[in-house]
Amino acid sequence: MIRIIRPNCPNASALSNENYKHTDNKKALKDASHDKCMYCESKISHVYYGDIEHIKPKSKYPSLEYEWSNLGFVCSKCNGIKKNKYNESTSYINPYEEDPSKYILALGALVKQKKGSERGEITISENLGIGLNRAQLLERRNERLNSVQKAIDSCFRTANTALREQALEELKNECGADKEYSLCIEALLSSNDIL
Ligand SMILES: [Zn+2]
Repeated sequence: MIRIIRPNCPNASALSNENYKHTDNKKALKDASHDKCMYCESKISHVYYGDIEHIKPKSKYPSLEYEWSNLGFVCSKCNGIKKNKYNESTSYINPYEEDPSKYILALGALVKQKKGSERGEITISENLGIGLNRAQLLERRNERLNSVQKAIDSCFRTANTALREQALEELKNECGADKEYSLCIEALLSSNDIL
């Protein structure tokens, strides 16, 4: 999970007309997260259309069903695991409103809570939260990490300075906000003094 800047609502009248799935608004949310799930950072549209997430569940907060600040772009897995779970006192990390790196960090393919953060722990938990360390995510994150690790090895084994500089620039792009699992990749690059 990484910080996402919430876009302006392009079609407020759709929300006024009790339509929270309007394509204009969904596209704006999708573009803001670079087609990635707001919680797990998986790319979505190459497999299906993606869901509109009610950050505070509409079953518990009906007045927020058509409230722009309560909507996000999410994958079906995160949506399905989260269901109607939500606790106001230890709310899930909201990447549209705060920087997740204050509460969570990446250790290899795993996401962990930071400095004892209860909100981090609950957000990560599969029982209480969204399940950010589920097996399929660990597998995909490991694939990405292994691929970037190979590129790091190759970069530092290159004797040619110009080629190494070019490889370093390419590596820095691997943790861009548009890349899958950028939180984990950023941690790997930082550990190797590349960022
Ligand atoms: Zn997800």
